[in-house]
Amino acid sequence: MPSDSYFFAQPHFLRIAGLNRLEVISLLDKADSYVEQSRRRQKTSDRLQGLTQINLFFEPSTRTQSSFEIAGKRLGLDVINMPIGSSSVSKGETLLDTAVTLNAMHPDLLVVRHGASGAAELLSQKVDCAVINAGDGTHEHPTQALLDALAIRRTLGDLDGLRVAICGDIAHSRVARSNVALLNLLNVEVRLCGPPTLLPSDADRWGAEVFHNMDEAVADCDVVMVLRLQSERMDSAAIPSKREYFRFYGLDRNRLSHAKPGALVMHPGPMNRGVEIASDIADDLSISLVTKQVEMGVAVRMAVLDMLATARNEAI
Ligand code: ASP
Repeated sequence: MPSDSYFFAQPHFLRIAGLNRLEVISLLDKADSYVEQSRRRQKTSDRLQGLTQINLFFEPSTRTQSSFEIAGKRLGLDVINMPIGSSSVSKGETLLDTAVTLNAMHPDLLVVRHGASGAAELLSQKVDCAVINAGDGTHEHPTQALLDALAIRRTLGDLDGLRVAICGDIAHSRVARSNVALLNLLNVEVRLCGPPTLLPSDADRWGAEVFHNMDEAVADCDVVMVLRLQSERMDSAAIPSKREYFRFYGLDRNRLSHAKPGALVMHPGPMNRGVEIASDIADDLSISLVTKQVEMGVAVRMAVLDMLATARNEAI
């Protein structure tokens, strides 16, 4: 059982921007201890027994929703997944009406994914419980950035001084935004690379160097993080064709050879194989962290649930 000598006193977990280095390191350290709990045969504890967690996912999700569900159950929480498709939301109930309704059931933790940037923050102003952002539009996906950092830290050790390239559809990626903010806090040199149509106009102000040529972007990097081409969020003119996209921005062995020898490859999933990443790279366990990222996701979410529940308990 982890000790409580960690520093994190936020009422909600909405974004990485605004957190400090100590808070991030506290979360990563706590998550580390939950990796060990998750590897044991007996994975469940009664740490947060008696508390209720509601998962409210307005966008489809496989790994994030199941990861939050497993994380809650491993801490002894009662976890409820709201079935959005068959709920009043499909009858036109607004986000805020749904929030007020759920709030009346006295949940302690509300995990929200929504297609609108800022939705989790809006909810947090209307409910009494702690709100966790599980991805809001193109804004942030803070637990993804934490799990990515934990996967790197457990493989390479300290992140200080590493060079990481984040490549692909930056414009639509909440993963990229959260990662740049977090990696900056941990003194990582970050590069962003994508076609001009998939890079936001203010990308040069994010705290990263911007590239359009992928070979140059990955040169001498320790880690190459590839993002999904988010076709559901873009108009068709953003790329000429998927085949053309792979030719210029897909990660294959040849392109990866420009990075440091043994450089690690990451992808938040779900992957478009043959579009942004070649299958043989994604499946090569000697360099690919993709499954480790999923494993770290559960531990990081346990840490966030625990820190928020503990901070609230202490505030009462
Ligand atoms: N699963 C991540 C997200 O929800 C990445 C992606 O969908 O491409 O943002």
